[in-house]
Amino acid sequence: MLTVSKDRPLLTTITGSLPRPQWFVENLKGRPFSLAMTELSFREQYCDALAAHFSDQERAGLDLFSDGDARCDCDVGGRSWFGYAAERLRGLEGHHVGRGRTASSRDKVAGDIMFEVLETRVLPNVVGEVSRGDLQYTHVWKVAQRQTRRTVKFGAISAQMLATGLNNLYYPGRRELIMALSQTMNAELNALADAGCPLIQIEEPAIHGMVGVDDKEVSGDFLVEAFNREVRGLRQKTEVWCHTCWGNPAAQRTETKRRYYRDALAYFDKLDVDVLTFEAADNGGDELESFGKAIDPSKKIAIGVISHRTLQVERPEEVANLIRRALKVIPPERLIISTDCGFGRQGMSRLHAFYKMVALTRGTNMVRRELGLPEADVLAADPKGALLG
Ligand SMILES: [Zn+2]
Repeated sequence: MLTVSKDRPLLTTITGSLPRPQWFVENLKGRPFSLAMTELSFREQYCDALAAHFSDQERAGLDLFSDGDARCDCDVGGRSWFGYAAERLRGLEGHHVGRGRTASSRDKVAGDIMFEVLETRVLPNVVGEVSRGDLQYTHVWKVAQRQTRRTVKFGAISAQMLATGLNNLYYPGRRELIMALSQTMNAELNALADAGCPLIQIEEPAIHGMVGVDDKEVSGDFLVEAFNREVRGLRQKTEVWCHTCWGNPAAQRTETKRRYYRDALAYFDKLDVDVLTFEAADNGGDELESFGKAIDPSKKIAIGVISHRTLQVERPEEVANLIRRALKVIPPERLIISTDCGFGRQGMSRLHAFYKMVALTRGTNMVRRELGLPEADVLAADPKGALLG
C-alpha cells in the first residue's frame, strides 16, 4: 500500500546502488552478512560506507534514502547484484562458467564490453530444491535503517531475473525454476516486511526484456504470475515498488538496438505493486506519454530523470524540463522523481554520482517552486558553503 510516498508529490529518490568509497575494500565473499559483520574491518568499513551514502543523499536533499546496495561485493560489472542472492540461497552449489540465459543482443561477440562482463557472471548451479538460506534481507535493512531517521528502502533482484543467471540442473524447466525462486523470495520479503521495512523494491522483472524476443517457453502472462507470486501479501504490510530499466552492468545498455517499453506496459500494469519505475532520461523521455496512458491511476510512476550511463552531469534545467513533460500526462501526486538505474555498477565515481543526485533535487525544486510545493533543503547547493565567492 502507498505509505512512504502517499501525499508526497514529486518525492525524490535514487534507484539504489552507489559507487563504493575507495577505502571500502572488504567484501562478503559468500559469507552470511551476519557472520561478516563479526569481523572488525568489514563491520567498520560497511557501517562507515552506509554513513557516507546517507550523508551524500542528505546533502543532496533527497527524500527517500537507499543503502547504496553496500552489501554487494566489489566485482566486475555489478555481478554481485545476482551473486548476493545466488550465493546464499539453498539448493544452489558450485559455480557455472557460461553466459546464462539472457535475451540481450549485446553479449554474443568477442570485442564487446558485455562479452567480457558476461564472462564474469560465474554463478552457482541449481542442484536441489531452492529455499531461503542466508539471504538475511532483514539484517541488511535493519543495519542500514538504524543509522538514520530518514526512511531507507530495500531493493533486491527479482526471482525471474536471478533465474536468467543460474544454471538449472534440477528443475524440469525454466518455469518451474522461476516459480520456485519466486516462492522463496516471497518468504524472505514477507519476513522483511514483518520486521518493519516500509518500502521494498523488486528490481527488474524479465518482462520488458523478453516479451516479443524470447517468450515461447516463458510468456509475459507467466512472468506476471510469477512476479505476483513473489510479492504476494507484501502490499498489505508495506509499500512495494517494481524497478525496470534497460541494463546497468558497467553502465551499459544491454541491447545493440534501442528497445521500447510499449509492448510490456500492459503486463506491467497487471503487477501487484504500488509504484512502477521507468527509464526516462537516457531515452529522452520519449515514452512518457505511453506510461501515462497505459498504467492505471491506482499506481504511481517513478521516472528516471538522471542517466546512469553518462558521466556528463545533467543540468537542473534539463531535469526540470523532463519533469514538466511528465506532468502533462501524470499528475504530481502520482509522479516520483528518480534515476534511470543505480550508479554503482562500475559506471562512475562518487563525485559524479553525488552531483547527479544534486542535479536531481535542484531540478525538482525548480518545478516544485512553479507548483507551489515545498522545496527540498539542498545543503550541497547552499552558497554559504562555497569556498570561492
Ligand atoms: Zn536498473
